[in-house]
Amino acid sequence: MFAQFALHERLLKAVAELNFATPTPVQVAAIPPALEGRDLRVTAQTGSGKTAAFLLPLLNGLMGDPQPRVRVRGLILLPTRELAQQTLKEVERFAQFTFIKSGLVTGGEDFKVQAAMLRKVPDILIATPGRLIEHLNGGKLDLTEVEVLILDEADRMLDMGFSEDVDRITALCAGRRQTLLFSATTGGAALREMATAVLRDPLHLQLNSIGDLSEGTRQQIITADDTLHKERLVQWLLANETYQKALIFTNTRVQADRLSGLLIACQFKVFVLHGEKDQKDRKLAIDRLKQGAVKILVATDVAARGLDVEGLDLVINFDMPRSGDEYVHRVGRTGRAGTQGLAISLICHNDWNLMSSIERYLKQRFERRVIKDLKGSYSGPKKVKASGKAVGVKKKKGDKKTEKAAPKRKPVSRRPRDSAPSALVSQDGLAPLKRKKTEQ
Ligand code: AMP
Repeated sequence: MFAQFALHERLLKAVAELNFATPTPVQVAAIPPALEGRDLRVTAQTGSGKTAAFLLPLLNGLMGDPQPRVRVRGLILLPTRELAQQTLKEVERFAQFTFIKSGLVTGGEDFKVQAAMLRKVPDILIATPGRLIEHLNGGKLDLTEVEVLILDEADRMLDMGFSEDVDRITALCAGRRQTLLFSATTGGAALREMATAVLRDPLHLQLNSIGDLSEGTRQQIITADDTLHKERLVQWLLANETYQKALIFTNTRVQADRLSGLLIACQFKVFVLHGEKDQKDRKLAIDRLKQGAVKILVATDVAARGLDVEGLDLVINFDMPRSGDEYVHRVGRTGRAGTQGLAISLICHNDWNLMSSIERYLKQRFERRVIKDLKGSYSGPKKVKASGKAVGVKKKKGDKKTEKAAPKRKPVSRRPRDSAPSALVSQDGLAPLKRKKTEQ
């Protein structure tokens, strides 16, 4: 019951109007301390209800202390336009019985229209960092009276190279009384640094729903010999599985384009979403998927970030995500709200150890599935260690015998990739290593 929170009755009315009956775990954990004014660092993925978890306290605070609209009072910084647009819609829905006005500033939209909106001064500004900096450089925007700063998907903002922009913007909001930092993953050192720099005595809420994954979503792996084999498997799955909507993740733009081209040639209706697509294409792809005009989307992680599509019940990992958190983030899009979902990862010999690291991270074993008509020659390593990893794949440091005995192989690069990882997986697949500047 949302009535358990000390929220203004107009907000409770909006919540009821939206048919939100029961608060989600992140809402239960975050709303009370946020209402008390605490700084929060929350780890929760898209789909967890995190947006309402920060919007309701923000709106409540602004309503409790009405002010003439002369300066922006709440700033929400987030990494992508899609997420910004979704968040604006959510603010408008929650604020429908209030006088609070919100505005959007993102790349790919008309600068002058945004400048005109800013002249009218919204109470809440939702922005991506790059475009916000452009407006700040224009000298028309004042953030000195921002009371509440929200950094949503902060891990992704760092991955996308927005670190300096975010630093500059947070420094401008120096007078704020509260900062809420949300991330989908626990992130690495850069996120810890950011949290230390921007938060005051924060409460750390860890709500990654690793445990929830298994409830509504079956998780399977299918072994594959190579990329061509994976492509045939995808075609088979799309033709034979029962699903409303499918999302296929690749780790590179090139592979996303190649796969979508192939599927289109096979008469599937497919959209592709990656960082090189312009804003119009991305919006079209998302709208079509939401409306159901297209059932299949091929995407890289960053491009699909923040996507919240109803009826998404099949996720295919064409490439394995590089960390357990990223896996949870991809697969957590299916099986929401008690519905059934299916997540299938295609595993070549290069993917095996990463897959087994993710199994260990999630403390579960994925179902092994074989498609009889497309059975290849690779079905996993001949011998596995207690950890589940392949025996003999990794050379031991300083072990001369092994070094001598090891056959010369081309190093398998895991990094010619163009979509942003949330974190690189270390050798044991658990601790995140280094981050890198990449696509939007
Ligand atoms: P988010 O994680 O904020 O992107 O939210 C995912 C979806 O869940 C959005 O469509 C929200 O409108 C919806 N949602 C959030 N909280 C609730 C709730 N307590 N009950 C029902 N739906 C919710």
